[in-house]
Formats: sequence, structure tokens, C-alpha cells
Amino acid sequence: MSEQGFTTKIVHADHSLNLEAGAVHAPIHNSVPYGFEDVQGLIDVFQGQPGHAYARSSTPTLDALCKKIQMMDDGVASAVFSSGMAAIVNTFLTLLKEGDHLICSRFLFGNTTSLLNTLKGYGIEVTLVDATDIEDVVSAKQSNTQMVFVETIANPVTQISALAEIGDFCESQGLVYVIDNTITSSYLFNANSVKASLITTSLSKYVAGHGNAMGGSVTDTGLFNWENYANIFDGYRKGDSQLWGISQIKKKGLRDMGACLSSQGAHLISVGSETMELRMDRQCHNAMVLAEFLQAHPKVEKVYYPGLTEHPQHDRAKQLFSGFGALLSFDLVDGLDCCELLNKLNVVISATHLGDNRTLALPVAPTIYFEMGLQLRQEMGISENMIRCSIGIENTADLIADFKQALA
Ligand SMILES: *Cc1c(COP(=O)(O)O)cnc(C)c1O
Repeated sequence: MSEQGFTTKIVHADHSLNLEAGAVHAPIHNSVPYGFEDVQGLIDVFQGQPGHAYARSSTPTLDALCKKIQMMDDGVASAVFSSGMAAIVNTFLTLLKEGDHLICSRFLFGNTTSLLNTLKGYGIEVTLVDATDIEDVVSAKQSNTQMVFVETIANPVTQISALAEIGDFCESQGLVYVIDNTITSSYLFNANSVKASLITTSLSKYVAGHGNAMGGSVTDTGLFNWENYANIFDGYRKGDSQLWGISQIKKKGLRDMGACLSSQGAHLISVGSETMELRMDRQCHNAMVLAEFLQAHPKVEKVYYPGLTEHPQHDRAKQLFSGFGALLSFDLVDGLDCCELLNKLNVVISATHLGDNRTLALPVAPTIYFEMGLQLRQEMGISENMIRCSIGIENTADLIADFKQALA
């Protein structure tokens, strides 16, 4: 049988688990503790056998979501967390230690950049690079480099990392290659194709889509050889070595640091994920049409969207992704006030967040990049008049009409 499509696999993932009473959806298991007829069962779980003991580590509902994410990401195992940030910080803190060096894209989600400063305080060296340029990544390598972390399409300027070239480099140097796939998601981009070791995703965005639950995930693609990685604790160096990395992330991260997702949240994300392909196709279409409309508008100075042929990494996006995504930013011409424009939009909501079914927009400089200050904004190519949009699933004509009247 040929491999099933993305959506077929997701919508049939739960009931293929042989759920109780023939349930088609994984039930929500709210229980925190799990009891055993024979205490040996409890001992076995504590000693590494599959099973549940306490909801901070796992529940059947969380396992069902992990299985879905693992399938979507085409990996060997996944772990889920209370948010995308929790997934990222747990990856860093469980796999890096004092004295290690981390290479990161300079174009990152703002809170991730902020987190890197916290890591520096713990004695982890961080070098920020222009990840669109492989030479910049290569020249940042030091003898203590352990990991490279990049995003696919960066927010808000939409730079696209040299994903394939960085994958080859990490493979040749034995570095852990972590890709934050939130903005493309596994539907638009299979990170295995560029040799990612680990994939992090904010499930709060496109995977859930509805903006009613937060979550994050880490998937091990099985491509990294953990036997050669010095930071795996001795206690976790047993069994299938493909699973050592994710086991350490689960034990040291989820169990010890406790940023666990609730089963309620996992269920909401799981239900949302079923329509990911349908939503994202529509969102990518809407974004493309809007990008072309804005680009042709005299009151718009510049549009940042990878689907436009003028985008500096348009060819890379075309080659690597099955769609150009739904993150779009634009600058108004000098003298026009972006807040005034946002207040005139009726369909589009002024709100932060990405990947929602609704189109959301915000002025970049005074909100998500306020804390960075003017100089850093300028270094990152963020104009003071930039508007970032997360394009939703509304009917295309309504979105265009809304921008048209607001710009008039
Ligand atoms: C939103 C986002 C995160 C953080 O995810 P949360 O679920 O909001 O914690 C991380 N990376 C990227 C690229 C994001 O867009």
C-alpha cells in the first residue's frame, strides 16, 4: 500500500490506537495518578517500562497527541509541552551544559532571542548568525559548539534559513541540528529532508489553528547519533540509542522541569490538527493574493512574503516548502501611520499570535519588538512602520476588501 496522505493519517490516528469502547477520538484522561492492581506494574513504569504513573510525565491523551505529532513530523518519537517556548527551553536546558556553544539564527521569534540571554547567564555561549547565509553559520563554529538552532521562515521579515546547507554542515560536524518548524509546520515542510535532528513546533499556532489551546512539541527525527553526544547522562545511555535524546528531554525536561501540557489542552490541539491541511492551503492562498494586492498598492512601500518572486529567498522557499506560508509583513510609505491603518480594518483583528483561523495584525515596532529597542530593530531590518499579519481562513474577497477600504 502506498503511503497515506497527511490528512488521512491525522484523522485516522486516534481510532487506530484501539481505544476503549471503540471511541473514534482519544478520550480526555484527566486523572493525575495511575494505579496498579499489582505494585510491580508501578515499579516497572518507574524503571522504564511503557505505562503511566503521574500526569506530569504522561497520560494516554498526551501519548495520543505525541503519536500524531510524531507521524506528522515523520520522526521516531515526540514529546509535548505546555507551550512552544516550553518545548524550546527544555530542548536547550536538557541537551546543553555550561561551557557549551550554541549557534542560533539572528532572525528568531522574539521570546526565543530573549531566552538566549538567559542561557548566556547559565554559562552557555551563544553566537547569533545570519542563517540565510551558510558561510556565516560555518564561520561561527567553535571547538565547543554542540548545537545549531534556526527557524524556517522568520518572523516578521520572513527570512528563510539556508536549511539544506546547514543540515549538511551539521551532519559533517556531528552537531545537533534543531529546527523550529512553527511557521511552516510539518504540512509545508518536512524537516527530515534537510537532516534536522530535532524539530520544535508551537502547537498553539497552525497545528491547533483555533487559538483555544497552547502547546509545544519536540520530535526526534532519528537522524542524529546520540551515542556520540557527550551530554547524554549515563543513566539514559541504554536501550535504542535513537531514543536517548528524546528520553533525556522527557525525563530532564518534562518530568523534572514540569512544563507539562494538560490532557484537556492536548485534546483541543488534537481536534484542531485534523483540519491543518485544509486551513493552511486556504491561508497560503489568501496570503499570496493579499501580498500581490499590497505590493501593487501605492500606499505600501514594501511587502515581505516568500511567495513574491522579489523575495530574496523565493527560490529556496519554492524548492523546500510545499507552500509559502501565511505570515506576511509590509511597510507603509513614509508619513502614513500603521496604527491608524490597523484601527480602520474591520475584519482583521489587532492581536498578537500566528496561525489562527482569523486574520490578525499588529504594529511590529511598538509591540513584539518594543523591548529590543530602535538600534536592534534597525539591525534586524524592522522598519518603524511595519505591520505584521497572520493570514486566516476568511473568504479571500473579504480580506482584500477590508485592506482596500482601510488603505483608501
Ligand atoms: C509562537 C512561536 C513560538 C512560541 O510558541 P508558544 O506556543 O506561543 O509558546 C516559538 N517559535 C515560533 C517561531 C513561534 O511563532
